[in-house]
Parts: sequence; structure tokens; C-alpha cells
Amino acid sequence: MNETLSTEVSVPAINGERLWQALMELALIGATPEGGCNRQALTELDREGRELLIRWCEAEGLIVRFDAIGNLFARRDGSNADADPVVIGSHIDTQPTGGKYDGCFGVLAALEVIRTLNANGIETERPIELVSWTNEEGCRFAPCMMGSGVFAGQLTLEDALSRTDVDGITAGEALAAIGYVGDDANRPGQFAAYLEAHIEQGPILEDEGKTIGVVTGALGLKWFDVTVTGMAAHSGSTPMHLRQDALLGATRVVEAVNRIALAHQPDGRGTVGAFQLLPNSRNVIPGQVTLSVDFRHSEGEVLEAIVNEFRQTLNAIARETGLSIEIAPTADYPPQHFAADCIAAVRQGALANGYAHRDIVSGAGHDAVFIGDIAPAAMIFIPCEKGISHNESEYATPEDVTAGANVLLHATLNLAGPVAGAVA
Ligand SMILES: [Zn+2]
Repeated sequence: MNETLSTEVSVPAINGERLWQALMELALIGATPEGGCNRQALTELDREGRELLIRWCEAEGLIVRFDAIGNLFARRDGSNADADPVVIGSHIDTQPTGGKYDGCFGVLAALEVIRTLNANGIETERPIELVSWTNEEGCRFAPCMMGSGVFAGQLTLEDALSRTDVDGITAGEALAAIGYVGDDANRPGQFAAYLEAHIEQGPILEDEGKTIGVVTGALGLKWFDVTVTGMAAHSGSTPMHLRQDALLGATRVVEAVNRIALAHQPDGRGTVGAFQLLPNSRNVIPGQVTLSVDFRHSEGEVLEAIVNEFRQTLNAIARETGLSIEIAPTADYPPQHFAADCIAAVRQGALANGYAHRDIVSGAGHDAVFIGDIAPAAMIFIPCEKGISHNESEYATPEDVTAGANVLLHATLNLAGPVAGAVA
């Protein structure tokens, strides 16, 4: 990181109007009646979105390539051809009732950074690669973060390509159908740094009146299925003291999840999001309840402690009620701690522009969380209205979109080393 950037180099401002117009133009591809966007991965609309992005990249003189899972890379050469690139971007696929900003902001902010460098004749030492990862949302083809997951070795290419949609079409067939099967030889080598700008998808920045979130990492998560088993019986003929009511025990589990998460603030999260009753009949005492449990925290040891406390609580509930309670893990991702020099470059970008900012931990998954395992990475958050996303009403203000891109530009220059054009 170039510590002297802020004093030796005058960084130009990005063109907020040009960036906003690009966001609105991309959002026309798959536009929904309620003002959102439905451009799911590996569909015909995804192909159209990619074509527009490629056209914009090529107009800036970038060299566009694809790897075998269809991740797009667009290279702007640096003065040092041997230097590892600074990679910036996100994704352009959306949820079925998605918004205009989730993912697209990060890709188009990266494009705007390159447009600004070109317009101002600024050369960097390191190459800059714009990236648009395939299928971040994971709605047509699971899992989410598929392109970055394959890139980072979280899942194999064969596994990803064999995943099917509801019609039985494989991701491999869909990728071939839109014409974006590339070659892994097209990938950039080791990343010097990866930066991803994104809407927060949560309410914290708006609540505190902050413009920029300096993202220091992402919450780890542990998921479980919990099964509480009692005895189904007639609701009229079974006296209260002779019942084994699985639902009564399950409500205590729900309460415990909430209580344990609340005891580990500010980063603890605990959620029961799915709940099934057997037999689910008005006049039968519930015999079995299955529920999902989602625990998250920013520190691995704390997440471990949360789960230990939860297991002990389940044992106590089982002892006190006579119910049988089983717990089965279904997913386990450790917390991500982003790289100190990338975080510092983002913070410096916010400071240099005079934006109100705070450190923040991402509660949601992002491509940067996988890339952070294989390269120095960080993220830039901007507020989104009421924290709403994955929704057609998702909204970020033009001012915040502009601010996020200015921070991305500053951090990118910091990490890529400006060599010409920007010196004051
Ligand atoms: Zn996203």
C-alpha cells in the first residue's frame, strides 16, 4: 500500500451521472413492472447483460476474457506487465424479484473507475482487472456464489456445471447456450488485491447516517436442523399432565436461539426460519417438530461458544420435558477476516473524500468472502434504503452510489500504484 498517495497524488472524482446512467441502462435488461430487475444467471437476459457490459469494457480498451465457469475478466494493462493485478468488481445476475443495485453497483463502479482513469490519462503500475462473477445469487442454479466459489476452489467446476434448474437443464448446458464457456487459461494469475463495492443489504449505515461501510470481514455461520420428538395424541382425551407435546419443547428451542444470540452482541445472530409440525392437525397434540437454526458471528471462537451453549440448552430442555431432541449440522462456514492493507486502503478512500464512515462486518455472503480465502480482499458498503434488498424496491441514492465509486477509485489507485497522470 502506498501510504503517501493522499499527499502526492490528486485523485480525480468519478462521474456520478455516468455511473448512474450505466446502472439504469443495465437495469432495463430484465426490468420488472415494480421497478426491479429479473436477470437470473445463465438466462438469455444474462447473455444480454453480459453483451452490454462487454461493449462498455471494449470501448474503454479493456481485454475481455472468460474462464470455464463463465466469469468475465476485463484487463486494463499497467506499466509493469509482470505485476499482479488489482481486481475490482462483483456480479450482474439478480434474484427473480431483485433490484437494480445488488451486484450491478460493484461491477459498474469498477467500470466507472476505469472510465475515470482513462478520461484523466492515469496509468497504474499494476494492471487492473474488472471482474463479473457468474451466478452469485444462486436462484436458478444452487449454490450461490458459484463463479467465485469455483474460482476459489470451494466447489469443483464439474460439480458446478452439473447443477440443474427446475426444468432439469444443467448449469453447463445453460452456460453453453448463452455462449460464454471460456477457458481457465484466461484467468488473471494471483491477485495483488480484490475490492468489491456493494450495497449494505442491511440497515446499519442508514440508521447511523454513515455513507461508507469499511467492511472488515464477514460473519461465519453454522446451520442445524433440530428435531423435537414427543408423542402425537388426541387433544380432547389426553389430560394436560400426561402429554409429550413436541411443539411446547420446540418453542423453548426458538426462545433459546434468540436469547443466546442476544447475549453475543453486536455481531451475534440467531434465527429459526423454517418450522414443520407433525401431524399439523387442529385436534392432535404435535408429535414431532423440525426446525432450522442459523447462528452467525464474526469470531470463530465465539461462534463455537454459541453452539456449545445451544447444545447444553437443548440437553436441559430434553431433560426437563422428557422429549427427545436431535441436532444435525447442515452448513458450516468460518468467519472471513479481510486483509489489513485492503481494509486500510478503503478507509483511506473514505477519509480522503471526507465521507462519514464506520467499520462494518458483512452479515451476508458475497463473492469477496470466497476470494478473501485466496487473495487479499476487502469490501466497500454503501447504504440501501431501509436495508431492503433482494426486492424490486431496493434503492440506493445517486449520492451514495457516487461516494462508493469514489472510495473504490481511491482504494484501487492506492493498491495499484499510480505512476503517471495523477501526480499533483
Ligand atoms: Zn450481491
